[in-house]
Amino acid sequence: MKLAGATALAGAASQSATAKQPPEANQSVAADESCPARSPIPDGVWTPTPDETILPDTKFETGVYVREAKRDGPTAVVVAGQHGFERSAQDAAMRLVSLTPKQGKLVVIPHADVTAIHGHSYSGDLGNLNRHWPTGEEPKSELARELWSVIEECDPDVAFDLHDSKGIYGSDLADGVGQAIFPTPEGVDAASEVIDGLNDHYIGPSEYSDEYLFTQGNEQSGSNPLLSHTFGGDLEIPGWLIETTRYETSLTDRVTWCFAATVGCLAYHGLEFDF
Ligand SMILES: [Zn+2]
Repeated sequence: MKLAGATALAGAASQSATAKQPPEANQSVAADESCPARSPIPDGVWTPTPDETILPDTKFETGVYVREAKRDGPTAVVVAGQHGFERSAQDAAMRLVSLTPKQGKLVVIPHADVTAIHGHSYSGDLGNLNRHWPTGEEPKSELARELWSVIEECDPDVAFDLHDSKGIYGSDLADGVGQAIFPTPEGVDAASEVIDGLNDHYIGPSEYSDEYLFTQGNEQSGSNPLLSHTFGGDLEIPGWLIETTRYETSLTDRVTWCFAATVGCLAYHGLEFDF
């Protein structure tokens, strides 16, 4: 059994406690209706200069962050922010931006649909961006095509799409898809180990009930037009759609779980960090 993912989860736990974090990473978004269309990402979010920009000088302009180790290793792509008010996923992605891997390359797109983020809404000006990804076809919008060209150019070995949900997958407590990892067929083994680690290190010892234990969702293999389906259906690589729940949880906890799940899957596939 491979334990790199579990070890990384334990490391991520200590990191999140002592925390050299991006400033204000956990601050809530203020509901600011006057937020201008092209202002930076929400107030209080740490935004270093991106290494690349998608659709510059448009309302969809968003940054790509590349963190490359001196040592060779796998390439990972992490996308968040397809849904605007799913803040914990975006903050977890920004926490990754603050780190450099020990080996390999990490490419992070934390704010995929800036119009949804500025609107503090689920969907942005193009509707639900996470329905623009039919497997085996061109993505359905210019934004999705530009995002896809960055992803394809990276030639990733592993890929992530980060979200949070109003409910819990498979639970009567609240309908939704949270507290679940949805792997591509190639990502099932890592998901299984990481789910055990999340439950052992985070949910089990916490005050959250067993309803909050992470579970594995259905495989992402091209049957739906979600970005995670392209990881399985088009790229045929290990990939994960990671969902925490907003149902009676804190933003801080959701960021911690999402970050730990991502770091665990990365470690399982040979991309690790010093905490
Ligand atoms: Zn979402």
